[in-house]
Amino acid sequence: MKATVVGGGFAGVEAAWAMAQRGVSVQLYEMRPVKMTPAHKTELLCELVCSNSFKSMMTESPAGLLKGEMRGLDSIVIPTAEECSVPAGQALAVDRDLYAAKITELISAHENIELVREEFTPEMAEKLLAEGVPVVIATGPLTSEGLGQWLAEKTGQEHLYFYDAVSPTVDASTINHDIVFAQSRYDKGEGDDYLNCPFNKEEYELFIDALVEAERVPLKDFEKPKYFEGCKPIEEIASKGRDSLRFGNFKPVGLTDPRTERRPWAAVQLRPENREMTLYSLVACQNRLKWGVQKEVLQMIPGLENADFVRLGVIHRNTYINSPTVLNGTLEFNDTPGLYVAGQITGVEGYIDSASMGLYAGICIAAKLQGREIPQPPRETAFGSLLSHLSDAETDRDFAPMNINWGILPNPEPHIKNKGERKTAKVEAAQKAFAEWCAQVQP
Ligand SMILES: Cc1cc2nc3c(=O)[nH]c(=O)nc-3n(C[C@H](O)[C@H](O)[C@H](O)COP(=O)(O)OP(=O)(O)OC[C@H]3O[C@@H](n4cnc5c(N)ncnc54)[C@H](O)[C@@H]3O)c2cc1C
Repeated sequence: MKATVVGGGFAGVEAAWAMAQRGVSVQLYEMRPVKMTPAHKTELLCELVCSNSFKSMMTESPAGLLKGEMRGLDSIVIPTAEECSVPAGQALAVDRDLYAAKITELISAHENIELVREEFTPEMAEKLLAEGVPVVIATGPLTSEGLGQWLAEKTGQEHLYFYDAVSPTVDASTINHDIVFAQSRYDKGEGDDYLNCPFNKEEYELFIDALVEAERVPLKDFEKPKYFEGCKPIEEIASKGRDSLRFGNFKPVGLTDPRTERRPWAAVQLRPENREMTLYSLVACQNRLKWGVQKEVLQMIPGLENADFVRLGVIHRNTYINSPTVLNGTLEFNDTPGLYVAGQITGVEGYIDSASMGLYAGICIAAKLQGREIPQPPRETAFGSLLSHLSDAETDRDFAPMNINWGILPNPEPHIKNKGERKTAKVEAAQKAFAEWCAQVQP
C-alpha cells in the first residue's frame, strides 16, 4: 500500500501520519528549503507563518470540539501542540520553534514515511496517478506556481482562486429582524432569498465616516493584488466618493422597507451561506479593515448591532479550489480518481481546520487501500460541518474559505431560543454523533 502526499504543512503532515499509522508507505514531498514560499522562514514541517495560537481548547467551543475529534482520530498535530504549549489562557498556543522541530522529528523518524525535500511537479503527479498511486495535494495558500497552474487546468480556471476577497459572515440567529427585512430586488427570485439591512441618510453618513477612517491591514509585498472591479475593498470605494457605495454595492433599488414603506437610502444585502440558513454573508462587503475595528464598523449596519461575525472580511493571497463543484465526499477529484486535496486548498482556513482535512483525507485513503469505505462524518460533528461547507453545491453563494464556528454547526431541532442553551445542545449533539462515527472508523 503506497501513497504520496505533497506539502509538509498542517494538512500534509496529518494526512501522511494518518496513513503511515495505518500501515501505508508514504512519500511526503516538501519543497522547503530547496524552494521557499514568500511566508515561511525555515525548512521545518508545520511551520506557523503567523500567530502561534491554535485557538480555544475549551471542549464547549467549536475550535475545542474540532480538536477533540482530531484527538479521537489519532492526530499528530494536536497532541504535539499540547506537548509544546505555552501559557495562553483558554487557548492552545505553542512555542513555534519547538513545535515545528518536534513534528519534523516525529515525521522523519516514522518507519512508513519517506520525507523528500523537492518541489513536486505536475509531471510527477501524472506519473504516480498513471501507476495507481494516490496523490494528496496539500500545498496550502502559497502553493508553488507550477502546481497551481496544473490545478487550475484540472479544475477549469474558474474553479481555482488565487485571492480571497471574502465578505463577512454573520450567525443568522443574531440578526435583528425588527429592522432587517426579507425581499429580493424587484421581488425577483424566491421572495425571501435575501435579507436587507436598510440605512437612512444619517445612518449611512455615519457608517461611511467610520469606514474610511478605520485602520486597514497593510499589504505584504507578495500580496499586492490587482483587484477585479467586482471585489474592490468597500473602504477604497467609499474613499473615492461618499455616495459611491450607495450607487454601487449598497444600492437600494427594487427594495421597499416595510417600516417606512419607502426605498431605503442605501441597503446591505445578506445572502444565505448554507442550506440550513444558519449563516448569512454580507453581499459585496469585502474589505481589509483590521479585525477589531472591522467588527465595530460592521455593527453600525442597521440590524447588525448585536450580530456575531463568524468570519470577517479579508483580501489576501490564497490558493483554493471550488470544492463543491469538483470534489467528492472523500476530498477526491470527481474527474481524476486517486487525486485528492487536503488543507487550506480545499476551502477551509487556519492551522487546525486545515490539519483536520488532511487527517480526514488520510483516513479515507488508508481505508480505501484496505478495501474499506469510511462513512461520511455526521453533519452534527465538527468534521461533518466543515465537510458540509466543502460539499454544498446547492446553495447559491460565492464559495469562500471558512473555519469551524458556531454558525456552521447545525441548529438543534426543535429550535432552542436561548443562545447559551443552543450552543450547549450543539456541542452535546456533536460529541454524541462523533463517538458513534469514530467507533465505525477506527480500523
Ligand atoms: C501570511 C499568512 C498568515 C497566516 N496567519 C495565520 C494565523 O495567524 N492563524 C492561522 O490559523 N492561520 C494563518 N494562516 C493560514 C495558515 O497558514 C494555513 O491555514 C495553514 O498553514 C494551511 O495548512 P496547509 O497544510 O493547507 O498549508 P501549509 O501549512 O502552508 O503547508 C503547505 C506546504 O506545502 C509546501 N509546498 C507548496 N508547493 C509545493 C510543491 N509544489 N512541492 C512541495 N511542497 C510544496 C509549502 O512549502 C508548505 O510547507 C496564514 C497564512 C498566511 C499565508
